[in-house]
Amino acid sequence: MKTIGLIGGMSWESSDLYYQIINRKTQALLGGVHSCQCLMYSVDFAQIAELQHKGQWDILAQHMVSAAKKLELAGADVVVLCTNTMHKVAADIEKNITIPFLHIVDAVAEEIQQKSYTKLGLLATKFSMEEDFLKSRYKSKFGIETIIPDEDDRTDVHRIIYEELVRGIITEKSKQRYLDIIEKLVLKGAEAIISGCTEIELLIKPSDIQVDLFQTTKIHAEKAVSLALAI
Ligand code: GLU
Repeated sequence: MKTIGLIGGMSWESSDLYYQIINRKTQALLGGVHSCQCLMYSVDFAQIAELQHKGQWDILAQHMVSAAKKLELAGADVVVLCTNTMHKVAADIEKNITIPFLHIVDAVAEEIQQKSYTKLGLLATKFSMEEDFLKSRYKSKFGIETIIPDEDDRTDVHRIIYEELVRGIITEKSKQRYLDIIEKLVLKGAEAIISGCTEIELLIKPSDIQVDLFQTTKIHAEKAVSLALAI
């Protein structure tokens, strides 16, 4: 197995999930006491969240590039960025490393295409829902259209991510709020839902909703293992 390099800490709550998933998947595929050969460079999310909300994406790009280069230098064979939002600077990372970068949209879109869905509801941070960096890749590369919640709902989805989920706070009230928003997206024509923020799957499980749920953390982490076994 090749070595997976994870850029984590955004937040560590979801990086923890990535670590569990890649190890469980490796064990399931290889059996015995196999576990995943990996490296993680984990950042301080307080610094990252502040720069995001100040719109300082050039500095964020430098942080992500530096983390990716450190992983490559340390022996990683593939880089996995453990957050949807920071894929806003994915092109900068790709340009500055020589090993493969597993884009989260590519991993998730391949799964969506297997089920032939073309119109999905997207729940994510405001950056990911309102800007184009993920949505346009789903559309132009895979023909997948994304529908986002109305403004008030987007504000709540974003607030719950930054005030609760990244701090490990999971409440029934927020779960209900998300479920109501998912219901509205389905009424607007969403055939399935993308939990497009790596912490959302801590709050909403596939069994909580009537339509399919594409969990970006689970899909991305499992694809990373397949890739590390294939290259
Ligand atoms: N983990 C989240 C995501 O997948 C949000 C935290 C971040 O901004 O990186 O978008």
